[in-house]
Amino acid sequence: MASIAENYQTVIEDFQRACAAAGRSPDEVRLIAVSKFFPPAAVRRVYDLGQRLFGENRAQEMTAKAPELPADIQWHFIGRLQRNKVKYIIERAAMIHSVDSLALAEEISRQAGLRDRRAPALLEVNLGGEDTKAGFSPAGLRAGLEAIARLPGLSVQGLMTIGPYYENPEDARPLFRRLRELKETVSAWGIQGVEMRYLSMGMSHDFPVAIAEGADFVRVGTAIFGVRDRK
Ligand SMILES: *Cc1c(COP(=O)(O)O)cnc(C)c1O
Repeated sequence: MASIAENYQTVIEDFQRACAAAGRSPDEVRLIAVSKFFPPAAVRRVYDLGQRLFGENRAQEMTAKAPELPADIQWHFIGRLQRNKVKYIIERAAMIHSVDSLALAEEISRQAGLRDRRAPALLEVNLGGEDTKAGFSPAGLRAGLEAIARLPGLSVQGLMTIGPYYENPEDARPLFRRLRELKETVSAWGIQGVEMRYLSMGMSHDFPVAIAEGADFVRVGTAIFGVRDRK
């Protein structure tokens, strides 16, 4: 089995190749190493190779791990977030990628406000129409954004989606393209307080396609850390 260092090197090469093919600078696309289910020692190994952005999907895991690791890590919260857990991650998270309801946005705004902060956040969009996935439907996005834009403690900076798993990563392309088109549509609405700077899309097996379609953040776990051991 390949080591984490070898995996990481392969991902970086694929990442750079995808950026070059898309005519994009590797500095404008950001790789998030999704370290969920892996211990701090594994994160440390990837950190030592130069990686600074890490992603976690559970509040407790992120709050337990972060203090054991260097302070210049940028933690991205990418998972379903219960409202009562917001207070645990609000100071730690550089960005919350998974705002999937107005109620969650309100709680994020409230907790950030208590700390005189404005939390950078992305709205999760459910493009696949899968019942198991969270997020705003494309049809519900405008109303959601208009309400969320009024919250003082949260700053909307873009959109995120979690695609279905396709055997052939090319099959994910139409979905990524739709998220990019949605970003343009939302920008054109010109809702005050809503910025459309970032698209968060693409995971281990389809991130090069996501980069080609305009991803600003790709979230890569398995391809770096290996298969997760879900106990
Ligand atoms: C786990 C996870 C990832 C990473 O998935 P891999 O297939 O392991 O790369 C990306 N995004 C979200 C929201 C996740 O929960």
